[in-house]
Amino acid sequence: MTETDVAIIGAGPAGLFAAFECGMLKLGCVLIDALDEVGGQCAALYPEKPIFDIPGHPAIEAGALVNQLEQQIAPFAPGRLLGRRVTALSGSAGAFTLRTDKDDQVTARAVIIAAGAGAFGPNRPPLEGLAMFEASGAVQYYVRRREDFRGRRVVIAGGGDSAVDWALQLKDVAARVHVVHRRAKFRAAPESAAQLDAAAAKGEIDMVIPYQLHALHGADGQLQAVEVADLDGGTRMLEADRLLPFFGLAMDLGPIAQWGLDLERHHVKVIPATCETSVRGIFAIGDVATYPGKLKLILQGFSEAAMAAHAIHPIARPGEALHFEYSTTKGVPA
Ligand SMILES: Cc1cc2nc3c(=O)[nH]c(=O)nc-3n(C[C@H](O)[C@H](O)[C@H](O)COP(=O)(O)OP(=O)(O)OC[C@H]3O[C@@H](n4cnc5c(N)ncnc54)[C@H](O)[C@@H]3O)c2cc1C
Repeated sequence: MTETDVAIIGAGPAGLFAAFECGMLKLGCVLIDALDEVGGQCAALYPEKPIFDIPGHPAIEAGALVNQLEQQIAPFAPGRLLGRRVTALSGSAGAFTLRTDKDDQVTARAVIIAAGAGAFGPNRPPLEGLAMFEASGAVQYYVRRREDFRGRRVVIAGGGDSAVDWALQLKDVAARVHVVHRRAKFRAAPESAAQLDAAAAKGEIDMVIPYQLHALHGADGQLQAVEVADLDGGTRMLEADRLLPFFGLAMDLGPIAQWGLDLERHHVKVIPATCETSVRGIFAIGDVATYPGKLKLILQGFSEAAMAAHAIHPIARPGEALHFEYSTTKGVPA
């Protein structure tokens, strides 16, 4: 049982920065995330990719951005409930109760939903024995560390940006990279697709086209080969010890869809000026929030965090005047 001013659901970049903005207004917070670590998509999906559109950082790796956000919120020591999915939300402005799948109960005066794509997970290929190879790490959906693939024979499946980017990034560390795609055209940035063609022409990447995944071969979770099939049913064996299927993310709001909030296409509708949802005291920021003109960018989530924190203050501290102050005036706690 935890009591706080603001419960923040989701510890991605938007949720982390919301903890900072609330802290600056002397509001206590608890961050709750289904994943075991903070950072949301940045930490889970692309920690080693440089981001180029964070103001003040010409380039910063996603994992480094998360570390910086952690440092920024440290003075406020927000509570953390990680590895816990919020399953239920009840109550009203000033007195909400949240419950998690690990039986935690959090009471909060206001709630910020910063749940990104919700309970996001990869689209998994329908292959027999897949779970065993996932459990051993032979089949992975995200690249955490490029080095983990050093000397490996890697099959990458998919035709989007992730497939193309990771093929280009892994070709220099992996023993072999095969790219399996069912058509010759890739849905990736034209410049990356051109680089892929160039690498294939030099023999650095093996293009397996038009094929799709057909079966996994190996024992005890150790992958030995990936079998692929063409559209006429002809098959080919690719010797491999790692498979990376990049078929996109399945977006699912999960329990959030049941909380009586106005939704629009799997997103939570908010008032742009405050990020308040259709329920007083519940706010939504970052990728999960929508309004006309919304851009799903980290910088947008940061600004929404500031707006939500200021709009929450009168709910969490009724009757207490809030004087707008710059951080340069206020400073942060030592
Ligand atoms: C490959 C890639 C490259 C990108 N490049 C850029 C870029 O260059 N610039 C840019 O601005 N953006 C980029 N993005 C998008 C950016 O990562 C997102 O906009 C950002 O992560 C959204 O932050 P968020 O905090 O709203 O949500 P997320 O990062 O999605 O975090 C949401 C968190 O909420 C948690 N959660 C969800 N539901 C629950 C629940 N019920 N209970 C508990 N926890 C829950 C999830 O586990 C997750 O950790 C990129 C995305 C990808 C995938």
